[in-house]
Amino acid sequence: DPIVQVNDLAFYYGSSKALHGIDLDFPRNKVTALIGPSGCGKSTLLRCLNRMNDLVDGGRVEGSILLDGTEVNTPAMDVIELRRRVGMVFQKSNPFPKSIYENVVYGLRIAGIKDRALLDETVEKSLRHAALWDEVKDRLQESALGLSGGQMQRLCIARAIAVNPEVVLMDEPCSALDPKSTARVEELISDLREKYTIIIVTHNMQQAARVSDYTAFLFEGVLVEFGVTEHLFVKP
Ligand code: ADP
Ligand code: ADP
Repeated sequence: DPIVQVNDLAFYYGSSKALHGIDLDFPRNKVTALIGPSGCGKSTLLRCLNRMNDLVDGGRVEGSILLDGTEVNTPAMDVIELRRRVGMVFQKSNPFPKSIYENVVYGLRIAGIKDRALLDETVEKSLRHAALWDEVKDRLQESALGLSGGQMQRLCIARAIAVNPEVVLMDEPCSALDPKSTARVEELISDLREKYTIIIVTHNMQQAARVSDYTAFLFEGVLVEFGVTEHLFVKP
C-alpha cells in the first residue's frame, strides 16, 4: 500500500496555478523520481508533501495528501511532527556551522532528547546509514564546514534520517556535487529505501533512470506520466 497518496492536488502562488489536479500514490520503501523541465512544478509538489509551502506568502493548496492514511492538509496536523516524519534534503547542503556531531543530533535536540548514550548511538547509526561514519568517526567534534561537498551532503542526509522519518524528500541533492560524489550519493539513495521511502526531484533523466524505482513526469504543473522507471526508460 502507498505511504503517500496525493489526490486532486492544486497549488497556487497568488493567482498563478503551479500544480493542476495531481493524483499520485508514492509506493512505500521505493525511490520515486519527480522529473520534468525547469518550472514544471517538481519542487512545488515536493514542498507540499511536508508543508514547506506553508511558508510561501500567498500560497494556497487545494486537494488532499494522505501520509499513511492521515490528512496532511488540515489544521489538525502537527506540522513539526509532519516534518519529522517527512524529512528533507536540499540541493545545496546546508550544514550548520557547528560540529559534525551537533549537525546529526539537531532534530533530536529540538525534540528535547538529552540522553547522551541515545544521542551517541543515533549519531553512529545515522552516519553509518549515510555511508559517512568511517570518514568522520575520529573527528565528530570538528566543524561540519571542514567537510567536502559530497561529505556535507551525506551529513545532511544523516541529519534528516536521525529523527527516524518515514519519507525523505530530496530536492536535486546531487546538482552541486562532482561526478564522484554524485555516484556515492546515488548509491546511498538506493540503499536508503530499505528503511525509508525516498522522493527525489531531479532534472537529470539519467539520474532518475539510475536511482529510481518509479518515475513521475510533470509538465506545466500537470502529471503526464507515472510508472515503473524501467518501463519508462531504457537503463543506461
Ligand atoms: P521546478 O521545481 O519543476 O523547476 P517549481 O516548482 O520551482 O518548478 O516552479 C513551478 C512554477 O511555480 C514555476 O512557474 C515557478 O516560476 C513558479 N514559482 C515557484 N516558486 C514560486 C514562488 N515562490 N512565487 C511565485 N511563483 C513561484
Ligand atoms: P528545514 O531546514 O527543512 O526546515 P529543520 O532545520 O527544521 O529543517 O530540521 C532539520 C532536521 O530536524 C530535519 O530532519 C527535521 O525533520 C528535524 N526536526 C525539525 N524539527 C523537529 C522536531 N521538533 N522534532 C524532531 N525533529 C525535528
